[in-house]
Amino acid sequence: MEATNPYAPPKSHVEDIPKPGGIWRKEKLLVMRKGAELPGRCIYCNEKADLHKKRRILYLNIWLQIALILLFVAFNVLALIPILIIILIFRKSARIKIPVCQRHRKRRLWITLVTVAVLLISISFGFLSVKNTGYQESFLIVGLGVFVVAFILAILRGQLLKAKKIDSEVMIFKGARSPFLDSLPEYAEQ
Ligand SMILES: [Zn+2]
Repeated sequence: MEATNPYAPPKSHVEDIPKPGGIWRKEKLLVMRKGAELPGRCIYCNEKADLHKKRRILYLNIWLQIALILLFVAFNVLALIPILIIILIFRKSARIKIPVCQRHRKRRLWITLVTVAVLLISISFGFLSVKNTGYQESFLIVGLGVFVVAFILAILRGQLLKAKKIDSEVMIFKGARSPFLDSLPEYAEQ
């Protein structure tokens, strides 16, 4: 059947696709049926990926996220315990194996190492800023600046896949890139 499908991925990849399917693309999103497994190809570049680490992806409804942020803005620290309880009750999670090739794995590792290094530098400046050196203010400003850099790096690294929706039937993720998504069939709302 696949031999006649003009949209099928190259032959060498076809056998990597786990049988009963259940993986689609919907524009830039990856749609998976609950229990489906991703093929052994990098979610970024579609190259072969051997190592599959099972990861847990958490999902919290976007409106609930906004409500929690407002709760925090209104009550600050007092809201932390209720927020934590609400998250524990309403979060949904999925455990899936996310294939990433050697090259992208290494790249992520480097960003992680640099982020940690920058964070340590920022903390060092934080310590210097509380010592009586006469330059406390300058150290504090540099420390905060360096912290912002670490924060931006952490955002750039991001999660491999971010859940946009998880329900009892499908899981929808953001984060996979075109080369991989292009090899998947289009998702038709069921
Ligand atoms: Zn890759």
